[in-house]
Amino acid sequence: MIGSAAEVAAAIRSRHSFILTSHARPDGDAIGSELALALALDALGKRVRIINRDPAPESYRVFPSVDRVEIGDTVSAAAPAFAPDEPSASAGKPQAPGAPEQPAVIMLECGSLDRAEVAGLDGLFLINIDHHPGNPAYGAVNWIDESAAACAELVADLIDTLGVPWTPAIATHLYLGIVTDTGGFRHANITADTFTRCRRIVEAGVDVAAMARQIFDSFGVGRLRITGALLAGMELHAAGRLAVLSLDDDLLARCGATVDDTENLVNLPLGARDVLACALLKRQGPETLRVSLRSKGTVDVRQVAAHWKGGGHVNAAGCTIVGAYEQAKARIIAATSAAMPQMGN
Ligand code: 5GP
Ligand code: MN
Repeated sequence: MIGSAAEVAAAIRSRHSFILTSHARPDGDAIGSELALALALDALGKRVRIINRDPAPESYRVFPSVDRVEIGDTVSAAAPAFAPDEPSASAGKPQAPGAPEQPAVIMLECGSLDRAEVAGLDGLFLINIDHHPGNPAYGAVNWIDESAAACAELVADLIDTLGVPWTPAIATHLYLGIVTDTGGFRHANITADTFTRCRRIVEAGVDVAAMARQIFDSFGVGRLRITGALLAGMELHAAGRLAVLSLDDDLLARCGATVDDTENLVNLPLGARDVLACALLKRQGPETLRVSLRSKGTVDVRQVAAHWKGGGHVNAAGCTIVGAYEQAKARIIAATSAAMPQMGN
């Protein structure tokens, strides 16, 4: 663990304007962490903008205030958009009264600075809150806890440290982060504290059954068709312990599906007892393969992704491979097979 909630809270208390961002193609933990913290900072009277490279997945857009997320690929245009403070609001600020304020940037759930795919961040005061192993602590203030099941768990503790009560909207976003990043409470990094936070989320008034329907069961029929097509094309390797799913734009189009419709489908083969890991291979052009990896227990797919400078967690990781498709596929199969436990006993 690097840093602490107390250090982040101190940095937040002494500042007034914030830009929140996360990784490109944000997932539930990115959106949930950003919105929960933004709502807490609102409660403290801070100025807050959320700027992401890509929109939230469609099924998450019904959750409170998700429409305040701005889509952009730079913060340089955004920085002056915080007007100089009213004198009454500027007490305790480091800047001279009336000077335009430089916002601090809070990076959430972003394992490296470049994963945000937002330009202009490096010139600003960065607060880095994350749970990805290997995060290089690129912020001026860093709080990195690899043991957290979701970045939203860190945000939950930060909101407590800041003394902001969990409103239903805040608790909704904490749950969004936790339920999606644990794969619906399946991954190995869940702790008793995860359930303590979830207990408080329910006590705050969140309808977790309704949220689960919205998050997991609100796709269009394109989702069903692409699910069928992916599973019909599934290959098994490593004595049936590794499942490989393959996807390209042509298959998506034939199924009437979007990339959003493929969210979490990589988990499906893990529903089979003997499958210990799954790779979802998405062709993104003739020479680029995007790889999502999932596993059970101690099968470490982060190490597999690291061969191609990717990353993630033991049970959920990803990388991008540049090269001819068949060769790249063979290499991913070999590397993931090698991560399996020895056969026999
Ligand atoms: P997904 O398969 O959902 O895209 O990603 C699974 C996990 O791996 C997430 O925690 C994500 O942040 C991480 N991840 C995915 N792709 C990459 C990558 O290219 N580089 C790094 N460092 N992490 C990745
Ligand atoms: Mn996460």
